[in-house]
Amino acid sequence: MRHLSWLAIFLGFLVETPIQAEIPVIIIDPGHGGHAVAGSLKERTNSSPNNATTPGGILEKDLTLEFSRILREVILEEARKSGPQVGVLLTREDDRNLNFAERAAIAHRSDTACIVSIHFNAGGGGKAMGSLALIGARARNPNYEIDHAFGKRLAEACSRGVQQYLPASKSRGVITDGHLHGGLGSNFFFQLARHRQLRKVPQVFSRDRVHR
Ligand SMILES: [Zn+2]
Repeated sequence: MRHLSWLAIFLGFLVETPIQAEIPVIIIDPGHGGHAVAGSLKERTNSSPNNATTPGGILEKDLTLEFSRILREVILEEARKSGPQVGVLLTREDDRNLNFAERAAIAHRSDTACIVSIHFNAGGGGKAMGSLALIGARARNPNYEIDHAFGKRLAEACSRGVQQYLPASKSRGVITDGHLHGGLGSNFFFQLARHRQLRKVPQVFSRDRVHR
């Protein structure tokens, strides 16, 4: 149920995406997947290979895919009822692990309106809880201001949805990938930046942090 609550609030944000001449497409990237390690340690910027689990054994890759599928249906249903025309494209539809270059290539479309990669994290010694947006660091992100505003509203909306089930949940705001991997950043943002026409497209990692 926690996931469903996210979706309702998330929609409130998404339907505000400006109407464009062509139907905008929201790219949703369900993090992880499959059993293979996608890319070398360097290519995935030293991040853990795959398939993190909750303490109860639920795989992050399954949560991200299930969440993304539900999110797509809710967005499309909401758009049918009252919103602008919108498309939704998932970077993966099944249990496979694409590398960051492959995920970025799927997002490379002239009608891409925004890119959101979904992850679930745990941490904080059992105390941290809430929603966090991760964006590309200012020094290498020409779209920093827009990404920051997008991520801030996204984290706030997600945490509001979770609060009715977990009152301690709150927005953890926005951090940049400059905090990751000793300042190396996330290779996903580097791969997206290789596609020139995506440089002005809002792009975030959205992470839900649940206590252990
Ligand atoms: Zn993850």
